[in-house]
Amino acid sequence: MTRIILLVLLISVSVFGNVVTKQNWKQGQKFTNYLQSNGISLDLLKSLDELEKQVVGEIKGGQVFYEVKDDSGKVIKVYIPISSTLQIKISKNQTNEFKFSIIPINFKEDVYFGNVTIKNSIWSDITSHTHNNSLTKKLQKALKSFSSKIGRGDKVAFLYSQKSLAGLLSGSPQILIVKITKPNKEFFVYIDEEGNGHNEPFESVSYVIYEPIIGKQTIKKTNENNNYKSKLNFVYPMRNTRITSPFSNGRYHPVLHIYRPHFGTDFGAKRGTPVMSVEDGVVIFVGSEGGYGKTVKVKHSGGYMSLYAHLDGFRVNVGDNVSKGEVIAYSGNTGTSSGPHLHLGIYLNNSPIDPMSVIGGESSSVGYILDKVSDAVSTKTYETKKIAIPNAIKHREMINYRLNTGVQTYDWIDDASKRKLSENDLE
Ligand SMILES: [Zn+2]
Repeated sequence: MTRIILLVLLISVSVFGNVVTKQNWKQGQKFTNYLQSNGISLDLLKSLDELEKQVVGEIKGGQVFYEVKDDSGKVIKVYIPISSTLQIKISKNQTNEFKFSIIPINFKEDVYFGNVTIKNSIWSDITSHTHNNSLTKKLQKALKSFSSKIGRGDKVAFLYSQKSLAGLLSGSPQILIVKITKPNKEFFVYIDEEGNGHNEPFESVSYVIYEPIIGKQTIKKTNENNNYKSKLNFVYPMRNTRITSPFSNGRYHPVLHIYRPHFGTDFGAKRGTPVMSVEDGVVIFVGSEGGYGKTVKVKHSGGYMSLYAHLDGFRVNVGDNVSKGEVIAYSGNTGTSSGPHLHLGIYLNNSPIDPMSVIGGESSSVGYILDKVSDAVSTKTYETKKIAIPNAIKHREMINYRLNTGVQTYDWIDDASKRKLSENDLE
């Protein structure tokens, strides 16, 4: 008996010396407080440059992060994801000082295949087959305009991808393609990046090409067509501005050997320049935030959020409804900023995206900002273009192959969550 206990002790010291745990960042917890409460010297912050200080501001209350503790229970490493691809790593160097770095997240992404024959009703059959509510929800979104055409005896086959980190599922599944097989015909449903289904490998995107804005007031919309598929059309946050630093998702710097993400677009602007909301929305944050200094955040529909940083002054309060083009603040040089400018961040489902990928170029309404109300035109003009759905053809081949080989795969959440975390899973 004693011998067995000794053996177990020996194994736990040598193999499980360091323990990795998954944590949630406390709401309202400041980075400095976190460091102090874990005995990490605030000297760590002295080495941070402007971009790294901004990245610290990306830590969100409630978000998942990972701690590695030694056998005495002391934190020796911390991994904090700050975007869908990068994470902060804090770890001891050879001289036993904690060091800050930004490294890629070691995600695993797998593609899974399911095939459900509808016996009763589509959603009850799919739910009982997949045992996964978030997968069912994504399928419901993908098949929104197709489910009425799917009945008993039909087959619904689908491919989806799922990320995992350290053996735990991370984020929600993404449907890649669906194939419906009916007794007399079959068809594919192609899924765009937002998870909506299309009956051809293209999506039609409508956008506003003419919508004048006057100061705080947006011209009343007329001829509103309910069948029109509404897409957000972000506008520039300032007039007559230029980009001084573009968005970067964290390219590897070949000389410095570091990752330097810049989760936004910088616009050159004198202190006191009016800053406008890029879309209609609700103000969710007004205040100071780490390296971003005085900051305003506006929540928009469709999972988008915009962030305006290094401001000098505010013109809105939390809870205010703001219109596209409405002045919400004045630009400045607060936080860690090397000169007066506006930092604009745009987030989709909490992940930073390139603002210039959604801000209208030539078609932006800013180009049409009018100085006098009498110049206003009271109609919106829409244009539609077809955009290819990425990898649609590849996914069609993949699902046909899986249907021919017949093997079904799912991510079984229960099994994954039982796995013990390992440091190797994190980088
Ligand atoms: Zn910036």
